[in-house]
Amino acid sequence: MRPRPPRAPLRAALPLLLACCLSCSGAPRAAPSEPPPGSPAGASGAGDPLFPQAGNGGYDVAHYGLDLSYDPGSGQLTGTAVITATATADLGRFNLDLAGLTVGRVTVDGRPAATARSGTELTVRPARPVAPGARFEATVAYAGVPELLTDPDGSREGWFRTDDGAVALGEPVGSMAWFPGDDHPSDKAAYDITVSVPDGLTAVSNGELNARTGAGGRTVFRWHTGEPMATYLATLAIGHYTVTRSRTPAGLPLYVAVDPRSDDPRTAAALRRIPEILAWESGLFGPYPFTSAGAIVAHLPKGEGGYALEAQNRPVFPGDGVPPAVDAGTLVHELAHQWFGDEATPSRWQDVWLNEGFATYAQWLWQEHEGGESVDRSAAAAFADPAAWAFPPASPTAAQLFAPPVYQRGALVLYELRRALGGPLFSKLLRAWPAAHPHGNASTADFTAFCRRLTGKDLTALFAEWLYGRARPARL
Ligand code: ZN
Repeated sequence: MRPRPPRAPLRAALPLLLACCLSCSGAPRAAPSEPPPGSPAGASGAGDPLFPQAGNGGYDVAHYGLDLSYDPGSGQLTGTAVITATATADLGRFNLDLAGLTVGRVTVDGRPAATARSGTELTVRPARPVAPGARFEATVAYAGVPELLTDPDGSREGWFRTDDGAVALGEPVGSMAWFPGDDHPSDKAAYDITVSVPDGLTAVSNGELNARTGAGGRTVFRWHTGEPMATYLATLAIGHYTVTRSRTPAGLPLYVAVDPRSDDPRTAAALRRIPEILAWESGLFGPYPFTSAGAIVAHLPKGEGGYALEAQNRPVFPGDGVPPAVDAGTLVHELAHQWFGDEATPSRWQDVWLNEGFATYAQWLWQEHEGGESVDRSAAAAFADPAAWAFPPASPTAAQLFAPPVYQRGALVLYELRRALGGPLFSKLLRAWPAAHPHGNASTADFTAFCRRLTGKDLTALFAEWLYGRARPARL
Protein backbone atom coordinates (compact mmCIF):
# COMPACT_ATOMS: atom_id res chain seq x y z
CA MET A 1 0.00 0.00 0.00
CA ARG A 2 1.88 3.03 -1.19
CA PRO A 3 -0.45 5.79 -0.12
CA ARG A 4 1.11 8.50 -2.19
CA PRO A 5 2.19 8.75 -5.81
CA PRO A 6 5.82 8.19 -6.69
CA ARG A 7 7.93 11.13 -5.78
CA ALA A 8 11.26 12.43 -7.02
CA PRO A 9 14.08 11.87 -6.43
CA LEU A 10 13.65 8.33 -5.06
CA ARG A 11 11.15 7.14 -7.62
CA ALA A 12 12.74 9.01 -10.49
CA ALA A 13 15.78 6.82 -10.03
CA LEU A 14 13.78 3.62 -10.39
CA PRO A 15 14.16 2.92 -14.12
CA LEU A 16 17.90 3.37 -13.78
CA LEU A 17 18.12 1.14 -10.75
CA LEU A 18 15.93 -1.40 -12.42
CA ALA A 19 18.30 -1.65 -15.35
CA CYS A 20 21.32 -1.74 -13.05
CA CYS A 21 19.98 -4.15 -10.46
CA LEU A 22 18.81 -6.69 -12.97
CA SER A 23 22.22 -6.78 -14.51
CA CYS A 24 24.30 -6.70 -11.34
CA SER A 25 22.29 -8.19 -8.49
CA GLY A 26 22.75 -11.73 -9.57
CA ALA A 27 19.05 -12.00 -10.36
CA PRO A 28 18.70 -14.55 -13.09
CA ARG A 29 19.86 -13.16 -16.39
CA ALA A 30 17.11 -12.99 -18.95
CA ALA A 31 17.57 -14.43 -22.40
CA PRO A 32 17.60 -11.59 -24.93
CA SER A 33 13.91 -11.97 -25.72
CA GLU A 34 12.95 -12.29 -22.08
CA PRO A 35 11.23 -10.37 -20.59
CA PRO A 36 9.64 -9.21 -23.80
CA PRO A 37 10.10 -5.54 -24.71
CA GLY A 38 7.42 -3.45 -23.05
CA SER A 39 7.22 -5.94 -20.18
CA PRO A 40 9.89 -4.69 -17.82
CA ALA A 41 10.66 -6.94 -14.93
CA GLY A 42 10.16 -5.68 -11.39
CA ALA A 43 13.32 -4.22 -9.93
CA SER A 44 15.14 -6.00 -7.13
CA GLY A 45 15.07 -2.89 -4.92
CA ALA A 46 12.65 -0.10 -4.03
CA GLY A 47 15.29 2.52 -4.82
CA ASP A 48 16.58 3.13 -1.30
CA PRO A 49 20.06 4.66 -1.55
CA LEU A 50 21.20 2.97 1.70
CA PHE A 51 19.62 -0.44 1.06
CA PRO A 52 19.54 -0.91 -2.73
CA GLN A 53 18.17 -4.46 -2.47
CA ALA A 54 15.48 -3.70 0.12
CA GLY A 55 11.97 -3.81 -1.24
CA ASN A 56 11.28 -4.31 -4.91
CA GLY A 57 9.90 -2.49 -7.91
CA GLY A 58 6.78 -2.93 -10.00
CA TYR A 59 4.08 -3.63 -7.44
CA ASP A 60 2.43 -2.38 -4.31
CA VAL A 61 1.35 -4.84 -1.60
CA ALA A 62 -2.08 -4.38 -0.01
CA HIS A 63 -2.15 -7.45 2.23
CA TYR A 64 0.01 -10.25 3.59
CA GLY A 65 -1.70 -13.43 4.66
CA LEU A 66 0.86 -15.53 6.55
CA ASP A 67 -0.09 -19.01 7.63
CA LEU A 68 2.73 -20.33 9.79
CA SER A 69 3.53 -23.38 11.84
CA TYR A 70 6.49 -23.56 14.21
CA ASP A 71 8.28 -26.42 15.89
CA PRO A 72 10.48 -25.08 18.72
CA GLY A 73 12.29 -28.40 19.05
CA SER A 74 13.76 -28.40 15.56
CA GLY A 75 13.41 -24.68 14.92
CA GLN A 76 11.50 -25.47 11.74
CA LEU A 77 9.10 -22.84 10.40
CA THR A 78 6.66 -23.97 7.75
CA GLY A 79 4.63 -21.30 6.04
CA THR A 80 2.50 -20.08 3.23
CA ALA A 81 2.49 -16.40 2.34
CA VAL A 82 -0.37 -15.06 0.27
CA ILE A 83 0.62 -11.63 -0.99
CA THR A 84 -2.10 -9.50 -2.52
CA ALA A 85 -0.66 -6.66 -4.56
CA THR A 86 -1.28 -4.31 -7.45
CA ALA A 87 1.11 -4.22 -10.37
CA THR A 88 2.49 -0.77 -11.09
CA ALA A 89 4.30 -2.01 -14.20
CA ASP A 90 3.87 -4.78 -16.71
CA LEU A 91 5.25 -7.66 -14.67
CA GLY A 92 6.82 -10.41 -16.70
CA ARG A 93 8.55 -11.17 -13.46
CA PHE A 94 8.93 -9.57 -10.06
CA ASN A 95 11.00 -10.02 -6.94
CA LEU A 96 10.25 -10.68 -3.29
CA ASP A 97 12.79 -10.33 -0.48
CA LEU A 98 13.52 -13.55 1.39
CA ALA A 99 16.62 -14.58 3.36
CA GLY A 100 17.34 -18.28 3.68
CA LEU A 101 14.49 -20.82 3.90
CA THR A 102 13.47 -23.17 1.11
CA VAL A 103 10.81 -22.11 -1.34
CA GLY A 104 8.28 -24.68 -2.49
CA ARG A 105 5.30 -24.17 -4.77
CA VAL A 106 4.70 -20.61 -5.93
CA THR A 107 1.59 -19.53 -7.78
CA VAL A 108 0.37 -16.23 -9.17
CA ASP A 109 -3.40 -15.98 -9.39
CA GLY A 110 -3.56 -19.73 -8.93
CA ARG A 111 -1.20 -20.63 -11.80
CA PRO A 112 2.19 -22.17 -11.04
CA ALA A 113 5.02 -19.67 -11.44
CA ALA A 114 8.72 -20.24 -12.06
CA THR A 115 11.14 -19.02 -9.41
CA ALA A 116 14.82 -18.32 -8.97
CA ARG A 117 16.84 -17.33 -5.89
CA SER A 118 19.85 -15.12 -5.63
CA GLY A 119 21.04 -13.72 -2.31
CA THR A 120 17.97 -12.32 -0.60
CA GLU A 121 16.03 -11.96 -3.83
CA LEU A 122 13.33 -14.41 -4.86
CA THR A 123 12.38 -13.84 -8.49
CA VAL A 124 8.90 -14.97 -9.50
CA ARG A 125 7.98 -15.39 -13.14
CA PRO A 126 4.20 -15.68 -13.49
CA ALA A 127 2.80 -17.97 -16.17
CA ARG A 128 1.23 -14.85 -17.68
CA PRO A 129 2.63 -11.35 -17.16
CA VAL A 130 0.57 -9.25 -14.77
CA ALA A 131 -0.77 -6.13 -16.48
CA PRO A 132 -0.10 -2.70 -14.98
CA GLY A 133 -2.87 -1.75 -12.58
CA ALA A 134 -3.98 -5.36 -12.14
CA ARG A 135 -4.42 -6.79 -8.68
CA PHE A 136 -2.75 -10.15 -8.26
CA GLU A 137 -2.22 -12.77 -5.61
CA ALA A 138 1.17 -14.44 -5.20
CA THR A 139 1.25 -17.53 -3.01
CA VAL A 140 4.60 -18.78 -1.73
CA ALA A 141 5.02 -22.01 0.20
CA TYR A 142 8.24 -22.06 2.21
CA ALA A 143 9.96 -23.86 5.07
CA GLY A 144 13.20 -24.12 6.99
CA VAL A 145 14.98 -22.91 10.08
CA PRO A 146 14.91 -19.11 9.75
CA GLU A 147 18.19 -17.25 9.97
CA LEU A 148 19.52 -14.77 12.43
CA LEU A 149 20.79 -11.90 10.27
CA THR A 150 23.48 -9.34 10.99
CA ASP A 151 22.56 -5.89 9.77
CA PRO A 152 25.04 -3.22 8.62
CA ASP A 153 25.50 -1.79 12.13
CA GLY A 154 26.39 -5.22 13.46
CA SER A 155 23.05 -5.70 15.24
CA ARG A 156 21.48 -9.09 15.05
CA GLU A 157 17.91 -9.33 13.88
CA GLY A 158 15.54 -11.39 11.79
CA TRP A 159 14.72 -14.54 13.69
CA PHE A 160 16.04 -15.31 17.17
CA ARG A 161 15.58 -18.90 18.14
CA THR A 162 15.01 -19.28 21.90
CA ASP A 163 14.94 -22.39 24.06
CA ASP A 164 11.15 -22.53 23.96
CA GLY A 165 10.29 -20.57 20.83
CA ALA A 166 11.43 -17.60 18.79
CA VAL A 167 11.37 -13.81 18.53
CA ALA A 168 11.27 -11.89 15.23
CA LEU A 169 12.81 -8.39 15.02
CA GLY A 170 13.02 -6.62 11.69
CA GLU A 171 14.48 -3.10 11.67
CA PRO A 172 15.77 -2.39 9.12
CA VAL A 173 15.66 -5.52 6.98
CA GLY A 174 14.94 -8.50 9.23
CA SER A 175 11.41 -9.40 8.24
CA MET A 176 12.68 -11.23 5.16
CA ALA A 177 14.11 -13.84 7.56
CA TRP A 178 10.60 -15.13 8.28
CA PHE A 179 8.35 -14.16 5.38
CA PRO A 180 8.76 -13.23 1.72
CA GLY A 181 7.67 -9.71 0.89
CA ASP A 182 8.41 -6.19 -0.21
CA ASP A 183 10.78 -5.46 2.66
CA HIS A 184 10.96 -1.67 2.55
CA PRO A 185 9.11 0.88 4.73
CA SER A 186 7.58 2.60 1.69
CA ASP A 187 5.25 -0.34 1.03
CA LYS A 188 2.86 -0.63 3.98
CA ALA A 189 0.14 -3.28 4.01
CA ALA A 190 -2.49 -4.99 6.16
CA TYR A 191 -1.66 -8.40 7.65
CA ASP A 192 -3.32 -11.57 8.83
CA ILE A 193 -0.76 -13.70 10.66
CA THR A 194 -1.89 -17.16 11.68
CA VAL A 195 0.51 -19.23 13.76
CA SER A 196 0.27 -22.83 14.90
CA VAL A 197 2.40 -23.80 17.92
CA PRO A 198 2.46 -26.77 20.30
CA ASP A 199 -0.11 -26.55 23.11
CA GLY A 200 1.16 -24.58 26.08
CA LEU A 201 3.01 -22.03 23.98
CA THR A 202 1.71 -18.61 23.00
CA ALA A 203 2.24 -16.87 19.66
CA VAL A 204 2.04 -13.07 19.89
CA SER A 205 2.04 -10.75 16.92
CA ASN A 206 0.79 -7.33 15.81
CA GLY A 207 -2.81 -6.15 15.77
CA GLU A 208 -5.64 -8.01 17.42
CA LEU A 209 -5.99 -11.67 18.35
CA ASN A 210 -9.12 -12.68 16.45
CA ALA A 211 -9.13 -16.34 17.39
CA ARG A 212 -7.31 -18.93 19.41
CA THR A 213 -8.24 -22.51 18.64
CA GLY A 214 -6.81 -25.85 19.62
CA ALA A 215 -6.70 -29.23 17.92
CA GLY A 216 -4.41 -32.23 17.82
CA GLY A 217 -2.00 -30.97 20.44
CA ARG A 218 -1.50 -27.62 18.76
CA THR A 219 -2.88 -24.14 19.31
CA VAL A 220 -3.54 -21.75 16.45
CA PHE A 221 -3.38 -17.98 17.03
CA ARG A 222 -4.96 -15.68 14.43
CA TRP A 223 -3.64 -12.13 14.52
CA HIS A 224 -5.15 -9.38 12.40
CA THR A 225 -3.57 -6.02 11.55
CA GLY A 226 -6.06 -3.86 9.66
CA GLU A 227 -4.03 -0.66 9.57
CA PRO A 228 -1.19 -0.52 7.04
CA MET A 229 2.11 -1.63 8.56
CA ALA A 230 5.70 -1.48 7.32
CA THR A 231 7.42 -4.87 7.09
CA TYR A 232 10.07 -3.87 9.67
CA LEU A 233 7.33 -3.42 12.27
CA ALA A 234 5.92 -6.92 11.86
CA THR A 235 6.78 -9.18 14.76
CA LEU A 236 6.16 -12.63 16.10
CA ALA A 237 7.08 -13.98 19.51
CA ILE A 238 6.57 -17.63 20.39
CA GLY A 239 7.17 -19.04 23.84
CA HIS A 240 5.80 -19.36 27.35
CA TYR A 241 4.21 -16.00 27.95
CA THR A 242 2.08 -14.61 30.72
CA VAL A 243 -0.64 -12.67 28.96
CA THR A 244 -2.62 -9.79 30.42
CA ARG A 245 -5.57 -8.51 28.44
CA SER A 246 -7.29 -5.31 29.48
CA ARG A 247 -8.55 -1.99 28.18
CA THR A 248 -7.40 1.55 28.73
CA PRO A 249 -9.95 3.91 30.34
CA ALA A 250 -10.50 5.19 26.79
CA GLY A 251 -11.50 1.64 25.74
CA LEU A 252 -8.40 0.72 23.73
CA PRO A 253 -7.71 -3.04 23.94
CA LEU A 254 -4.34 -3.91 25.48
CA TYR A 255 -2.50 -7.21 25.09
CA VAL A 256 0.67 -7.49 27.12
CA ALA A 257 2.78 -10.67 26.96
CA VAL A 258 5.68 -11.22 29.35
CA ASP A 259 8.18 -14.06 29.42
CA PRO A 260 8.25 -14.99 33.13
CA ARG A 261 12.07 -14.86 33.08
CA SER A 262 11.82 -11.14 32.27
CA ASP A 263 9.16 -10.44 34.85
CA ASP A 264 10.95 -8.32 37.44
CA PRO A 265 9.19 -5.76 39.69
CA ARG A 266 10.42 -2.69 37.79
CA THR A 267 9.29 -4.17 34.49
CA ALA A 268 5.87 -4.98 35.95
CA ALA A 269 5.60 -1.45 37.35
CA ALA A 270 6.52 0.09 33.98
CA LEU A 271 4.02 -2.08 32.10
CA ARG A 272 1.23 -1.06 34.48
CA ARG A 273 1.80 2.50 33.31
CA ILE A 274 0.99 1.78 29.63
CA PRO A 275 -2.53 3.33 29.87
CA GLU A 276 -1.11 6.42 31.57
CA ILE A 277 1.73 6.76 29.04
CA LEU A 278 -0.64 6.35 26.10
CA ALA A 279 -2.99 8.99 27.54
CA TRP A 280 -0.06 11.37 28.13
CA GLU A 281 1.30 10.79 24.61
CA SER A 282 -2.17 11.16 23.05
CA GLY A 283 -2.38 14.55 24.74
CA LEU A 284 0.89 15.56 23.09
CA PHE A 285 0.80 13.78 19.73
CA GLY A 286 -2.92 13.39 18.96
CA PRO A 287 -5.24 10.39 19.05
CA TYR A 288 -3.50 6.99 19.27
CA PRO A 289 -3.25 5.80 15.65
CA PHE A 290 -4.11 2.09 16.00
CA THR A 291 -6.92 -0.17 17.19
CA SER A 292 -4.97 -1.91 19.95
CA ALA A 293 -1.80 -1.57 21.99
CA GLY A 294 0.38 -3.48 24.41
CA ALA A 295 3.88 -4.88 24.69
CA ILE A 296 5.90 -8.05 24.32
CA VAL A 297 8.62 -8.62 26.90
CA ALA A 298 10.67 -11.52 25.64
CA HIS A 299 13.75 -13.27 26.97
CA LEU A 300 16.94 -13.60 24.98
CA PRO A 301 19.92 -14.88 26.92
CA LYS A 302 22.65 -12.29 27.49
CA GLY A 303 24.94 -11.95 24.53
CA GLU A 304 22.29 -12.99 22.03
CA GLY A 305 21.75 -9.39 20.96
CA GLY A 306 18.40 -7.99 20.01
CA TYR A 307 17.04 -4.49 20.48
CA ALA A 308 13.84 -2.93 21.72
CA LEU A 309 11.64 -2.38 18.69
CA GLU A 310 8.50 -0.33 18.18
CA ALA A 311 6.59 -3.21 16.53
CA GLN A 312 3.20 -1.85 15.49
CA ASN A 313 0.64 -1.99 18.29
CA ARG A 314 2.98 -4.01 20.41
CA PRO A 315 6.63 -2.98 20.96
CA VAL A 316 9.06 -5.80 21.69
CA PHE A 317 11.54 -5.67 24.56
CA PRO A 318 14.07 -8.49 24.58
CA GLY A 319 15.01 -8.88 28.23
CA ASP A 320 18.43 -10.43 28.76
CA GLY A 321 18.06 -11.59 32.32
CA VAL A 322 19.38 -8.34 33.83
CA PRO A 323 16.48 -6.44 35.41
CA PRO A 324 14.67 -4.38 34.47
CA ALA A 325 13.72 -5.87 31.12
CA VAL A 326 11.86 -2.61 30.46
CA ASP A 327 11.84 0.73 32.22
CA ALA A 328 9.26 3.48 31.83
CA GLY A 329 11.57 5.65 29.71
CA THR A 330 12.11 2.91 27.12
CA LEU A 331 8.39 2.21 27.11
CA VAL A 332 7.71 5.92 26.49
CA HIS A 333 10.22 5.84 23.62
CA GLU A 334 8.75 2.78 21.88
CA LEU A 335 5.15 3.90 22.40
CA ALA A 336 5.98 7.37 20.97
CA HIS A 337 7.12 5.52 17.84
CA GLN A 338 3.52 4.44 17.29
CA TRP A 339 2.96 8.03 16.08
CA PHE A 340 6.48 8.67 14.83
CA GLY A 341 7.54 5.74 12.70
CA ASP A 342 4.55 3.43 12.73
CA GLU A 343 1.87 5.96 11.70
CA ALA A 344 4.16 8.38 9.82
CA THR A 345 6.80 6.03 8.41
CA PRO A 346 10.08 7.09 6.80
CA SER A 347 10.06 7.00 3.01
CA ARG A 348 13.66 5.88 2.97
CA TRP A 349 15.98 4.57 5.67
CA GLN A 350 18.07 7.73 5.84
CA ASP A 351 14.95 9.55 7.09
CA VAL A 352 14.88 7.39 10.24
CA TRP A 353 15.79 10.41 12.42
CA LEU A 354 12.11 11.33 11.98
CA ASN A 355 11.45 8.23 14.11
CA GLU A 356 14.31 8.33 16.56
CA GLY A 357 14.53 12.11 17.01
CA PHE A 358 10.86 12.34 17.98
CA ALA A 359 10.96 9.24 20.21
CA THR A 360 14.05 10.58 22.00
CA TYR A 361 12.40 13.98 22.43
CA ALA A 362 9.36 12.20 23.89
CA GLN A 363 11.68 10.63 26.49
CA TRP A 364 13.08 14.05 27.36
CA LEU A 365 9.55 15.36 27.85
CA TRP A 366 8.67 12.35 29.99
CA GLN A 367 11.67 12.76 32.26
CA GLU A 368 10.69 16.37 32.89
CA HIS A 369 7.05 15.36 33.39
CA GLU A 370 8.20 12.81 35.97
CA GLY A 371 10.11 15.45 37.91
CA GLY A 372 13.48 14.19 36.66
CA GLU A 373 15.91 15.86 34.30
CA SER A 374 14.48 18.92 32.55
CA VAL A 375 14.25 19.05 28.74
CA ASP A 376 16.81 21.86 28.84
CA ARG A 377 19.28 19.65 30.69
CA SER A 378 18.69 16.68 28.36
CA ALA A 379 19.27 18.97 25.38
CA ALA A 380 22.43 20.37 26.97
CA ALA A 381 23.75 16.85 27.59
CA ALA A 382 23.05 15.85 23.98
CA PHE A 383 24.68 19.05 22.73
CA ALA A 384 27.78 18.38 24.79
CA ASP A 385 28.17 14.79 23.62
CA PRO A 386 30.77 14.60 20.82
CA ALA A 387 29.19 11.34 19.58
CA ALA A 388 26.01 13.25 18.69
CA TRP A 389 27.93 15.34 16.16
CA ALA A 390 29.53 12.65 14.04
CA PHE A 391 27.23 13.42 11.08
CA PRO A 392 24.03 15.35 10.34
CA PRO A 393 20.91 13.42 11.44
CA ALA A 394 19.49 12.88 7.96
CA SER A 395 22.64 11.54 6.36
CA PRO A 396 23.59 8.32 8.13
CA THR A 397 25.23 5.47 6.27
CA ALA A 398 23.53 2.08 6.49
CA ALA A 399 25.80 1.27 9.44
CA GLN A 400 24.88 4.53 11.24
CA LEU A 401 21.08 4.31 11.12
CA PHE A 402 20.81 3.99 14.89
CA ALA A 403 23.83 6.04 15.93
CA PRO A 404 23.70 8.96 18.42
CA PRO A 405 23.30 11.76 15.81
CA VAL A 406 20.05 10.16 14.65
CA TYR A 407 18.65 10.02 18.20
CA GLN A 408 20.30 12.86 20.13
CA ARG A 409 20.88 15.37 17.41
CA GLY A 410 17.53 14.42 15.87
CA ALA A 411 15.89 15.40 19.18
CA LEU A 412 17.94 18.61 19.25
CA VAL A 413 16.41 19.63 15.90
CA LEU A 414 13.01 19.45 17.63
CA TYR A 415 14.32 21.30 20.67
CA GLU A 416 15.51 24.13 18.43
CA LEU A 417 12.18 24.15 16.59
CA ARG A 418 10.41 24.57 19.91
CA ARG A 419 12.63 27.51 20.76
CA ALA A 420 12.06 29.12 17.36
CA LEU A 421 8.32 28.54 17.23
CA GLY A 422 7.32 28.92 20.85
CA GLY A 423 5.35 26.38 22.89
CA PRO A 424 1.87 26.68 21.34
CA LEU A 425 2.99 26.48 17.70
CA PHE A 426 5.45 23.67 18.46
CA SER A 427 2.70 21.71 20.26
CA LYS A 428 0.54 22.12 17.19
CA LEU A 429 3.39 20.77 15.05
CA LEU A 430 3.81 17.68 17.27
CA ARG A 431 0.17 16.77 16.70
CA ALA A 432 -0.09 17.86 13.08
CA TRP A 433 2.91 15.93 11.73
CA PRO A 434 1.64 12.38 12.34
CA ALA A 435 -1.92 13.44 11.51
CA ALA A 436 -0.73 14.70 8.12
CA HIS A 437 0.52 11.20 7.23
CA PRO A 438 -2.26 8.83 8.24
CA HIS A 439 -0.75 5.35 7.83
CA GLY A 440 1.61 6.93 5.33
CA ASN A 441 5.22 7.73 4.56
CA ALA A 442 7.25 10.89 4.78
CA SER A 443 10.78 12.10 4.10
CA THR A 444 13.02 14.74 5.66
CA ALA A 445 12.18 17.10 2.78
CA ASP A 446 8.47 16.52 3.48
CA PHE A 447 9.13 17.46 7.11
CA THR A 448 10.91 20.74 6.43
CA ALA A 449 8.29 21.73 3.84
CA PHE A 450 5.53 20.80 6.30
CA CYS A 451 7.07 22.95 9.06
CA ARG A 452 7.21 25.92 6.70
CA ARG A 453 3.60 25.42 5.58
CA LEU A 454 2.23 24.90 9.07
CA THR A 455 4.04 27.75 10.77
CA GLY A 456 4.39 30.26 7.95
CA LYS A 457 7.95 30.82 9.14
CA ASP A 458 11.16 30.67 7.18
CA LEU A 459 13.12 28.00 9.02
CA THR A 460 15.85 27.65 6.40
CA ALA A 461 18.64 28.87 8.66
CA LEU A 462 17.55 26.67 11.56
CA PHE A 463 17.50 23.54 9.39
CA ALA A 464 20.77 24.49 7.69
CA GLU A 465 22.47 24.68 11.06
CA TRP A 466 20.81 21.97 13.15
CA LEU A 467 19.57 19.44 10.62
CA TYR A 468 22.02 19.68 7.75
CA GLY A 469 25.12 21.37 9.20
CA ARG A 470 28.27 19.30 9.62
CA ALA A 471 29.76 21.25 12.53
CA ARG A 472 28.35 21.71 16.00
CA PRO A 473 26.89 25.22 16.34
CA ALA A 474 28.81 27.54 18.68
CA ARG A 475 26.20 27.28 21.41
CA LEU A 476 22.88 25.70 22.24
ZN1 ZN B 1 13.57 4.37 18.74
